[in-house]
Amino acid sequence: MPEQRLPGGAAPPRRRFPLFWALIAGSAGYLAVVGAGGFFLDRSEAERTFQVMTTAARVVVLKGSATVAPARLAEMAEQAIREVDMLMGPGGEESDVRRLNAAPARRWVEVSPHTWNVVMDALRWHRLSGGAFDPTIWPVKRLFNFKKRAADTWPGESELAAARAAVGADKLLYDREGMRLAWDGDGMAIDLGAIAKGYGVDRAIEVLEANGAESALVDVGGEVRVLGMKPGPPSAPWRAGIRHPRGGGIVEEFDLTGAVATSGDYENFFFYDGRRFTHVIDPRDGLPLAEGVASVTVRHPGSCMAADALATTMMVLGPEEGKAFLADQALGLFSDGVRVDMFLARGGGLLKRVAFLVDQGVLTVEESFPGDPDPPR
Ligand code: ADP
Ligand code: MG
Repeated sequence: MPEQRLPGGAAPPRRRFPLFWALIAGSAGYLAVVGAGGFFLDRSEAERTFQVMTTAARVVVLKGSATVAPARLAEMAEQAIREVDMLMGPGGEESDVRRLNAAPARRWVEVSPHTWNVVMDALRWHRLSGGAFDPTIWPVKRLFNFKKRAADTWPGESELAAARAAVGADKLLYDREGMRLAWDGDGMAIDLGAIAKGYGVDRAIEVLEANGAESALVDVGGEVRVLGMKPGPPSAPWRAGIRHPRGGGIVEEFDLTGAVATSGDYENFFFYDGRRFTHVIDPRDGLPLAEGVASVTVRHPGSCMAADALATTMMVLGPEEGKAFLADQALGLFSDGVRVDMFLARGGGLLKRVAFLVDQGVLTVEESFPGDPDPPR
């Protein structure tokens, strides 16, 4: 509405004071809001590095929100990952996994919503992968020491047979209503090591996003997800790389928009009888994978948990079965698109690289022969 003026153009004198006070009150209000939230906010970039889930983790926040500082956001993200570790790590006081693993057969154990989410997702991977992914693999895994580089013993056949009999995700009972889990067999145990790191990363990103973070990266032991771009000017995509599974250099660097996860045979393994065995177990024969697939890197647009679980699944399936699985699920699990880079090894060196790309429901496969940046170990 246009301002009314008295003849002669002067503003009405009685409006001057209310306007004056309105201005004062207005700026005080403005200072209160902006001062509390943003005016005095430390906007400097924040980075936290810490140990969690028996690995190294890193949170980087380059740009926070209008009201929450990067340093505070990074702290919240770390807290979210620690919570996942606390609930799903094997030994913690408040660990659902510890309580479930201590429970006798057929006794219900109530778990937290986070643990429930991860276990339900793990069971879905188990079903869809035809049993290649199995969160109940622990009884077999515990018989081997994947930290010891050179093993001189192998578990006995009866010990192995007993352990194998205690593996099987279809013997993990669940009650959706009560969010409870129970074992349908003796000596069983759950191990979320192939999926919980990805979930922790997703949780951290969720918390960052919910609190308005605009640019961030979360990395838990090489499972990574990013939020937004690196702020500029000019802004730039985040970058990530694939490690050479034998040489230690970087095979490829790429722009990262969603999540990436890697499963490999080069961090947790031992040699026995001249062969390399890795910490991923093939539940179908109940043995650690022998050298074949050296590493699998998965890029997923929206979920680090999916990338994590798929990387482990593809390690077990290998190139042929893996290809069939991806083709099968191109319109299902992978309808948002996914990229898998699998490196095959032989005799201490790399044999070839197979890249699987699912885009708009269609799978394409490409093979190449990477040069070794370093001599084989
Ligand atoms: P990393 O921990 O190096 O990222 P993975 O994501 O592949 O590697 O997880 C490997 C871990 O998953 C193993 O240490 C073990 O705890 C568990 N695991 C081993 N084999 C399987 C399997 N077939 N399905 C599900 N989990 C598995
Ligand atoms: Mg994994």
